Amino acid sequence: RPRVSKRIGGISPSATLTVDAKAAELKSKGRPVIGFGAGQPDFPTPDYIVAAAEAACAQRANHGYTAAGGLPELKEALAAKTARDSNYEVAPSQVLVTNGGKQAVYSAFATLLDPGDEVLLPAPFWTTYPESIALAGGVGVQVTADETTDYRVSVEQLEAARTPRTKVLLFNSPANPTGTVYSRAEIEAIGQWAVRHGIWVITDEIYEHLTYDGAESVSLPVAVPELANQCLVLNGVAKTYAMTGWRVGWIIGPNDVIKAATNYQSHMCGNVSNVAQRAALAAVAGPLDAVTEMRAAFDERRRKIVELLNAIPGVHCPTPQGAFYAYPSVKELLSKQLRGQRPRSSAELAGLVLEHAEVAVVPGEAFGTDGYFRLSYALGYDDLVTGVERIGALLREAE
Ligand code: PLP
Repeated sequence: RPRVSKRIGGISPSATLTVDAKAAELKSKGRPVIGFGAGQPDFPTPDYIVAAAEAACAQRANHGYTAAGGLPELKEALAAKTARDSNYEVAPSQVLVTNGGKQAVYSAFATLLDPGDEVLLPAPFWTTYPESIALAGGVGVQVTADETTDYRVSVEQLEAARTPRTKVLLFNSPANPTGTVYSRAEIEAIGQWAVRHGIWVITDEIYEHLTYDGAESVSLPVAVPELANQCLVLNGVAKTYAMTGWRVGWIIGPNDVIKAATNYQSHMCGNVSNVAQRAALAAVAGPLDAVTEMRAAFDERRRKIVELLNAIPGVHCPTPQGAFYAYPSVKELLSKQLRGQRPRSSAELAGLVLEHAEVAVVPGEAFGTDGYFRLSYALGYDDLVTGVERIGALLREAE
């Protein structure tokens, strides 16, 4: 018998964290590595949120166990925030507070899937989805889109992948790793297709406030109200309030499913840290000024990174309209000669970029599509320019 169970032994390490670790190792040896791997804003958590957490530390009520599904005040504030930001009216009983968006993803799949249930998974996808599906006993069915459609899957593609075992569609807009934002019309079409076929939708809306060029984030059950009874909305404070380390996310859904997911959470981990929940309460009940400032900085970097990437021969980068990632194709460069090697995959090419340009990018394999790089532009403007120029100088040698 294996020492580690097959279920857990089969999980791949997070590719994004692997790149970060490799870059950190080179840095510790004194190499001037520039990292485009980070999936988090390079801004501090706003002071008033930190102050709320400090005050919460001193309150005895936060020192003991609280309700597994979340502080009632926070659930109420999340319902109010959802009405304010998404125009979606829900009751506090429809909210489950989780340990970050990651646990929201895991619990959503665990609560909906029986062994063998299929989940349609548009690719490029965020690297945590397939692992969460597999851990929950489900089967991920990849539906791939490329740069020619700005990485958007169509209803026709989803329909072609649908089988009698399809239970769930995973939907993520604005998307990690591509920055794609689906339009209202596309979201309506996808939602109506799901209603027609009785398919659940798990919609990850964690980048809702990071959109550019006038793109709007449209919440799926708002675009298609008939979907609400078969839809789970995932969200969290990490990206909007620069709170990745605080670990607060949530699921919004129909009462029966939220009740079941809360029951599960009560055995798995109990309540999310009360101090972090109090910080999240200050965040979601407060203004959106901080994200407005971050968005302006991200927008400037977004324009620059797309311009610099597209100036490199063999690199093609659609302009992302959301999140803080660029996802260029590097397919034309594969199998060309570069520094005495012939990289045949984006992972091999990313290895050469790290070694010879001292720049860390995440290869597309991590997101289900070989032939791409993901570059997070949540780093300083000057580093961004220097980093992409170094990549360009190296890749121009390819022949
Ligand atoms: N969903 C998406 C699409 C993400 O990119 C992330 C983080 O990278 C998360 C969810 C989870 O964020 P967290 O667990 O930090 O709240």
